Amino acid sequence: AKTAGGARWALYDAERDGQERARQALSAAIPVGLERGEFYLDYQPLTSLHDGSLLGVEALVRWRHPQLGVLRPDSFIGLAEETGLIVPLGGWVLAEACREAVGWTAAAGEPPYVSVNLAVRQVRRPGLVQEVRALLRRTGLPPNRLQLEITESTMMTTAEEPVRALRALADLGVRIAIDDFGTGYSNLAYLRDLPVTDLKVAGEFVRGLRAPDDDPGSRTGERILASLVSLAHALDLSVTAEGVETAEQADWLRAIGCDAGQGWHLGRPAPADQVLAYLASPQSG
Ligand code: C2E
Ligand code: CA
Ligand code: CA
Repeated sequence: AKTAGGARWALYDAERDGQERARQALSAAIPVGLERGEFYLDYQPLTSLHDGSLLGVEALVRWRHPQLGVLRPDSFIGLAEETGLIVPLGGWVLAEACREAVGWTAAAGEPPYVSVNLAVRQVRRPGLVQEVRALLRRTGLPPNRLQLEITESTMMTTAEEPVRALRALADLGVRIAIDDFGTGYSNLAYLRDLPVTDLKVAGEFVRGLRAPDDDPGSRTGERILASLVSLAHALDLSVTAEGVETAEQADWLRAIGCDAGQGWHLGRPAPADQVLAYLASPQSG
């Protein structure tokens, strides 16, 4: 039994070792991939629930890895955050999103804004405001066509400095959204101190909507969602619901006054030429 146990441990260690080596290899491949142009952005519609118009799109990074194929962000963003590589990667995402968005023009009304996810590390960095200001100047993108998404946990783990940075960005005219709203530690004090424009309510509140009436869990979920919408509107913020997968969910969200939606029912993430195609003929988008 002793030797068998020992063998299991050895096997376990070897597995862990292999995993660690794989992580190191993946992490080392990020700067190389950036240099070789292996990353690209998909864009997912942020749709008005009032009139169905395209308000904005969220930029979602993908990695066309030479050996592993197309990787979704969940498989490398965490790693990039741990190693600090999110700073150059996130910087590339920001620049690429602005570069593509500046070419979007609407036949009527406002062209869509582009919404970019910012990791804690990026918000903490002293040079962020300058980087964004230089980027807007270089690309010519109007500041109100850029939205930055930060999570509640960013507000919890950071102190004075990022609040100042976000305020400076808002002063430039950049939109600030709270991502995955309702899933973080709910000290809402930051809403008082921060110039937020939009709350993006996490998909887990949307899932289970309009489920059978005898499901008490989902009824509670509906009430939470309705209260989040009232809270946002009382603070003059707009609300975007994430994870809208069905027409029923969209109808219900519209009925409780939710402003915008994002999700498979409204549009899947797609490459930039889809945005251009939509803008060329919005009714077919
Ligand atoms: P997120 O910011 O919450 O982005 C929304 C995610 O939900 C996307 O996954 C999107 O494809 C997915 N989604 C959209 N509609 C639906 C739906 O109706 N149902 C369901 N179940 N899911 C839906 P994706 O593209 O895999 O991104 C995952 C996460 O990776 C993002 O979550 C975001 O936290 C992170 N991420 C993506 N791009 C970047 C980036 O450039 N920088 C940073 N820091 N994080 C990023
Ligand atoms: Ca997001
Ligand atoms: Ca989100």
